[in-house]
Amino acid sequence: MSNIAREPEFEQALNELTSTLAPFLAQNPEYKKALEVVQIPERIIQFRVLWEDDEGNVHANRGFRVQFNSALGPYKGGLRLHPSVNLSILKFLGFEQIFKNALTGLMMGGGKGGSDFDPKGRSDSEIRRFCQSFMAELSRHIGPLTDVPAGDIGVGGREVGFLFGAYKKHRNEFSGILTGKGLDFGGSHIRPEATGYGLVYYVSWMIKHAEGSSAGWTGKKVLISGSGNVAQYAALKVIELGGVVLTLSDSKGALLSTSAEGFTPDDIAAIGALKLKHKTLKDFLDSSNGKFTYHAGARPWTLVEKADVALPSATQNEVSEEEAKALLKAGVKYIAEGSNMGCTQEAIDVFEASRAAAKVASEACWLGPAKAANAGGVAVSGLEMSQNSARIQWTREEVDEKLSTIMENCYNDCFNTARKYAEDKDALLPSLVAGANTAGFIKVADAM
Ligand code: GLU
Repeated sequence: MSNIAREPEFEQALNELTSTLAPFLAQNPEYKKALEVVQIPERIIQFRVLWEDDEGNVHANRGFRVQFNSALGPYKGGLRLHPSVNLSILKFLGFEQIFKNALTGLMMGGGKGGSDFDPKGRSDSEIRRFCQSFMAELSRHIGPLTDVPAGDIGVGGREVGFLFGAYKKHRNEFSGILTGKGLDFGGSHIRPEATGYGLVYYVSWMIKHAEGSSAGWTGKKVLISGSGNVAQYAALKVIELGGVVLTLSDSKGALLSTSAEGFTPDDIAAIGALKLKHKTLKDFLDSSNGKFTYHAGARPWTLVEKADVALPSATQNEVSEEEAKALLKAGVKYIAEGSNMGCTQEAIDVFEASRAAAKVASEACWLGPAKAANAGGVAVSGLEMSQNSARIQWTREEVDEKLSTIMENCYNDCFNTARKYAEDKDALLPSLVAGANTAGFIKVADAM
């Protein structure tokens, strides 16, 4: 028996990757050593974060940074602030990040960090004091050529600003140390939008492949979970491209649209403003003129009888086996993970079985996995690093075009690698799960 403590989330991510690599490793046994090596982080930093609340009480939290793999470039990955944060969750996120970053085609290693600090209900000053204290320690271990953090759950533009200011002060250095910065101090256009936009671009390629090159989002009914950064911008892009967004959710419940047009850009803007104040979707419902129904404690997946696309964009393991079956029953044809490891392994198995069995594309429910489908966020982070190094700022159009090209290349990479190596490579629709895992792994293993 292993003497290492159980790490359920990390083990889930590791098993998910290794289970799809078998056909590639059978043909290329010399890569087996790389799989053994890549699952051990190069370095883990753990530290104490002391901060004072507005009443002068001192609080102690745990801080972490997992520097997982630097074969392709500086460690790169977000910081998560959420009470659930522990080493298993950060190791799973850091591990996924290695291969996701590789799939962007940019030169970035993989890492992740965060704290079990809960920002909910905290004042701006409390969050600032926490971020300053967190960075006082983290700043010794990171640098623009070493490790470049960014946001994740609980860390948005405001927190990145506080963290950047603290780093700058500690190190007396203005560098591209964090991504997701404000536009006026070195940030990139499209970074806040990037994960959501990239997710929709990725699914656009799935739609084109399954339905023909002229097919797109027009009239497609879309279920989205979450209401943070990823969900909001995915929803706005779906609406822009002609789709209908039927749901959004938060940790307390789900909102379902009762009108044919679904959520409007104004609805999304109002929700974005409420979320910044840590309010819930229930608060939004009270001001929405009966256009929505609210389902306390529910996720969107079982709420509708008919939908075409599902985009889990809240947190890990947010689609269970039963919910996956409900999505199949509702006729969902495309599911793509905006959240990292949005689907449980059982849900992945349901979608993969549906894809593998399909004799015509319209019968299948096809899964776009997180490490490819949500790579747009870190891709624009990589573009922000390039702009910082060159001391320039590209226009919105320039960044959006680069993002779109990166997502197209990422999709083609997953697709072609699956056609070459996946277990059922001749299936009508190849496994993008196996394709993403294998393509990402090969890039990292070759670099190692
Ligand atoms: N947290 C995001 C992710 O999961 C972005 C990380 C980054 O931009 O470094 O990919």
